[in-house]
Amino acid sequence: MAKWQNENELIFRVAIAVPVYRLFDYLAPEQLESIHIKPGTRLEVPFGKAKKIAFLIECVQHSDIDIGKLKRIERILDEKPLLSAKDLALLHWASRYYHHPLGEVFSAAFPVALRQGKSAVIQTEKRYVLTELGKAADSGQLKRSPKQKSVLEKFQAHQNSLSEAELSAWNANWRASVKQLVEKQLLQLAASELGIKSNEPIIKNNALLCNPQQQAAITAVCDSLGQFDVFLLEGVTGSGKTEVYMQIIRTVLERGQQVLVLLPEITLTPQLEDRFRQRFNASIAISHSKLTDRQRACAWIAMQRGECSILLGTRSALFTPLKNPGLIILDEEHDASFKQQEGFRFSARDVAVVRGKLLNIPVLLGSATPALESLQNVENKRYRLLHLPERAGNAIAPALQLLDIRNKRMQEGLSEALITEMRLTLAKNEQVLLFLNRRGFAPTLICHGCGWVARCRRCDANLVIHYDEGILRCHHCGQERRLIKQCPACKTGELTPLGLGTERVEKVLTELFADKVIVRLDRDSTQRKGSLEDYLQQINQGAVDIILGTQMLAKGHHFPNVTLVAILDVDSGLFSIDFHAPEKLAQMIVQVSGRAGRAEKTGRVIMQTRQPEHPLLTTLIRQGYNSFAKTALAERKEASLPPFSYQALLRVQATDAEMPQLFLQAVVELAQGHSNGHVQILGPVAAPMARRAGLYRYQLLLQSNKRPELHALLNLLMPLIEKLKLAKKVRWSLDVDPVDLY
Ligand code: ADP
Ligand code: ZN
Ligand code: ZN
Repeated sequence: MAKWQNENELIFRVAIAVPVYRLFDYLAPEQLESIHIKPGTRLEVPFGKAKKIAFLIECVQHSDIDIGKLKRIERILDEKPLLSAKDLALLHWASRYYHHPLGEVFSAAFPVALRQGKSAVIQTEKRYVLTELGKAADSGQLKRSPKQKSVLEKFQAHQNSLSEAELSAWNANWRASVKQLVEKQLLQLAASELGIKSNEPIIKNNALLCNPQQQAAITAVCDSLGQFDVFLLEGVTGSGKTEVYMQIIRTVLERGQQVLVLLPEITLTPQLEDRFRQRFNASIAISHSKLTDRQRACAWIAMQRGECSILLGTRSALFTPLKNPGLIILDEEHDASFKQQEGFRFSARDVAVVRGKLLNIPVLLGSATPALESLQNVENKRYRLLHLPERAGNAIAPALQLLDIRNKRMQEGLSEALITEMRLTLAKNEQVLLFLNRRGFAPTLICHGCGWVARCRRCDANLVIHYDEGILRCHHCGQERRLIKQCPACKTGELTPLGLGTERVEKVLTELFADKVIVRLDRDSTQRKGSLEDYLQQINQGAVDIILGTQMLAKGHHFPNVTLVAILDVDSGLFSIDFHAPEKLAQMIVQVSGRAGRAEKTGRVIMQTRQPEHPLLTTLIRQGYNSFAKTALAERKEASLPPFSYQALLRVQATDAEMPQLFLQAVVELAQGHSNGHVQILGPVAAPMARRAGLYRYQLLLQSNKRPELHALLNLLMPLIEKLKLAKKVRWSLDVDPVDLY
């Protein structure tokens, strides 16, 4: 009797987050009217020996698998799917475009807690805010209770409001002090975190009076609300892009719609959050990787239900469902961190544009240094350019200058001319910012006697010296060794550090500028949670004279009292084999320059170079980023490189040295068999770093002048690659539109 029933039973076709292209079939759970279950619903299913979360793709009548062998779904987790039909369509598109398994794409759209099957019910956490009394209070009067004093100062410095989680992250012992401050009526529990406070105006304080270019940008985007369009807001740092965003957001909120704001870096969220909280009464959700799983799930669900109006987040927030979508903003759209570099390798910018199209809402991309692809999209009339040519208010753009250091005496990377400039600046009580994109003390430890170099055993890379910690560390696999004093090869030679890292420059700075306060900002110095925020606060309060740091500095921070910026080693960026390198270098230079003289004080930027005639540097300095971009695009066109062609990179690694190449040779054969001649097959070649973390690495590049040709080939190829015998012996991944070729 069971047989007759089974044959009419609906088959649930589901996606599961495992790295295979196929979907899986299940039977409905016991006692269920399966008719009502819609695609996108999360399910719990038996999978091998374990249970997994699955996403319903469709219900079908037939399965290729004998129905008697199908297992039953164990549990249905959502009453209704959490994603809209349009967002489901987006995930299907992304899976097709990136040729990535649907289950993993679906999984990426959900926050970790929901991916693991947690219920989509919000548990709110408490939030404390300063009372009016607390805002006005002088923390100095709490001298005798230093803990309370520091809590009060934290609130005053930090948008006047902190959640339990934020407090715990800052200091584990906050509860007693907060309780005492509540008793003193300096703090109180926030009335309601969620929910738009409907009886208050959307805007808290008055917006600035915009200049005509800002106004034109605001009008253009506001006129497009309710329909799809992509805008590229190009404006130098300090030209008032954020102000433009906020004024547009105001209009979106007035229409009762939500805004998704994506940023490249978590370190930027507190600053932007501050500005947004000062401007808007609307509730703001935050999502980035430093928050707990629960916090991220809360933000996601609040947006899904329409309880929050603005979401500030990083790349992974892109897929957050919006109950009333109005606008997507991507700030610093050129930034490489919008590209996911592992697993489901997607470009948040490109997917945001597709999402805007599906939702029929405008997408606003902003940058001082737009990606070459985006500029080409303007040229093609796919994006509309909005230009803010000047700095807003009274600020004046910094002057860029090359400093020829050939044959000059250098002290740990600092030329005498630069040191003099630094002294002059510091004498005026202004701040200096030094940029060096290499952390650690020195990138190489070499024997003066025999030439032995400290190498990583697992990578084709040198170990970096970290004197402070007394170790040598590989920056590619993280492996560490004690810092040795004696050469292991000749036993007699003297080991010398070669090259410059931020730690080494910091050391010489403390000698040269003994009476100055120096802060080093890099991944090592800011590891402790909250330390970056603390440093930034010290800098902004003027308590710091010299700021030294890596690319962490290049992103978005405002340092109004910095009037001298120096890029210590611009040359190291000039000679890379990756065709993206000049673009990235130019963006980095302009972004770092943007930190200088943001207020009324004019800034200067000095670049130390041994290549003072290098065309990239001279074009950038004499004619600006746009001329550089035009030249670079012309070169790409000449060489048929993206955005004038389309690429997909197949990366392979294995513990066995031969396997990756053999696997790729098999792929090449398949590709040649199916190619229609419109796709170039380049490789296989060893990866630029041929061994990493003990694995041998190879790659194959597919390139075509026509995107559809490339994707047609990939459509045929991917299922075949998956079935290759060798595919089980290697780890492989496909990167569509790779942003670097490593
Ligand atoms: P960006 O995001 O392009 O770096 P911001 O929006 O942060 O620029 O603006 C830089 C500074 O100029 C901020 O302090 C901002 O308050 C100020 N500003 C922006 N627009 C105006 C304006 N129209 N008039 C005066 N000041 C402005
Ligand atoms: Zn030696
Ligand atoms: Zn290593």
